[in-house]
Amino acid sequence: MKTPAGKECPHFYGDYFRGRNVEECRLLKAAGEQWTRDLCASCPVPEISMANACEFMKLRPRVSRPLSAAFMRRVQVQAFCEKSQKAVREPQVGCGECHVLPFKFEVKS
Ligand code: SF4
Repeated sequence: MKTPAGKECPHFYGDYFRGRNVEECRLLKAAGEQWTRDLCASCPVPEISMANACEFMKLRPRVSRPLSAAFMRRVQVQAFCEKSQKAVREPQVGCGECHVLPFKFEVKS
């Protein structure tokens, strides 16, 4: 579903049927964080979801206020792979367990 920022996000839920106006981020809700519409504009989750649809990778979101973005709340995510049981440094790429990266070429003589 499209977020208020216009990006596709699998965690956004909006119900506008018959005058209803219910919106929520189910990722932040499950993590006990408070969602507001402005968070979607700078959230990295839509790009991560588009680049990597691995079923084993779980995102742990946190809403913070980085010093560089004075007073603006932002979503930061940490990724964890339930298959390899390790933290995923680059969520867009994955942990490399299922899809080994980079490709390795061997020259046999
Ligand atoms: S805050 Fe991020 S994860 Fe939540 S609905 Fe918006 S874009 Fe999706």
